[in-house]
Amino acid sequence: MPRLSEFVQSTNDALNRALLLTCECGITNLRNSRMQLTSNRMANELVEGRFVTVRIEGVTVLLAGTHAVSPVDIVCADGRITAIEPCTAAPSRRLLAMPALVNAHDHARPLSPTSFGGAAKPLETWLLRLGAMPAVDPYLAALAAFGRAARGGAGSVMAHYTRFMGPMSAVDEAREVARAAADIGIRLTFAVFMRDRNPLVYGPADPVLNLLSVNARDTITAQFLSPMPHPQEQIERVEAIAAAIEGPMISVQFGPNGPQWCSDDLLRAIADASIRTGRRVHMHLLETRYQRAFADRTYPHGIAAHLEALGLMSPRLAAWPWHTASTWHPPTSISSLGLERSLRLTRVQTCICAQA
Ligand SMILES: [Zn+2]
Repeated sequence: MPRLSEFVQSTNDALNRALLLTCECGITNLRNSRMQLTSNRMANELVEGRFVTVRIEGVTVLLAGTHAVSPVDIVCADGRITAIEPCTAAPSRRLLAMPALVNAHDHARPLSPTSFGGAAKPLETWLLRLGAMPAVDPYLAALAAFGRAARGGAGSVMAHYTRFMGPMSAVDEAREVARAAADIGIRLTFAVFMRDRNPLVYGPADPVLNLLSVNARDTITAQFLSPMPHPQEQIERVEAIAAAIEGPMISVQFGPNGPQWCSDDLLRAIADASIRTGRRVHMHLLETRYQRAFADRTYPHGIAAHLEALGLMSPRLAAWPWHTASTWHPPTSISSLGLERSLRLTRVQTCICAQA
């Protein structure tokens, strides 16, 4: 068996090549489908691959509710809709206009953790297997993830970025991710991961490490137990990324991984910064029975009350209560978390992390 670090190194180049091929195929497919649409349904000008003026004829519009709308012609110029007019030709049977879908929680990973042996396993074991996912070119990785989202109909993606590829700086890597979002053409919300405790288990790592051989302990320590930045340093990193990439199509949020991975000092610093700047917070919350057990053990007065005391419960917080990758156990109910009161008080958003 190769050491984990050797495996990571040996697969790095191969994965980069595979990603590049995937991206090239995806872009070619998108270009071909646009060209086919152009020839069939549009009167337009095409300059250097970009539409200048486009008239899409006979489009059925899908609106909220049950209102039936007659087919329309949609006129676009420089990538924007400039007019919606009564249909002048026979309605198309294949054109439907609707708001683009929103992918409200994604991790912008180039490949699914199932590619690294994480399928059908508890979250706690497949998360560690992410360590075997090699670092790849962050632009290509984001291009693959956002390309998949766009082809699935998403026009806006929340990317809870859970690790940096490196070796470039975090700000430069965020610029590469932003460049990929712009090239794909999606709106991006970039939540930067934040964590400072429990990298291996929900508690002290030594009892686990002491059960391992020296070689295994050294490998695990090198892979998972590197020092984590001070809370203030992590806040400043998010603000630096925001200053570098935020704009009309991109916003940046604080992305604490989850209460069991964040100290009170870090969560309090995030809450204070969010109150001060209005920056939103995106966080997993008790995805598994083991995380719930940790929370019950650590915060006997309730995790919701604890987060509220730290100042984190607010309309700026989106919390994701459990992970569909962990469906082997009964999901934790909102009422049993004591979140109902906080939800009523603060309108915290809740949903499910479906991106394994
Ligand atoms: Zn998630």
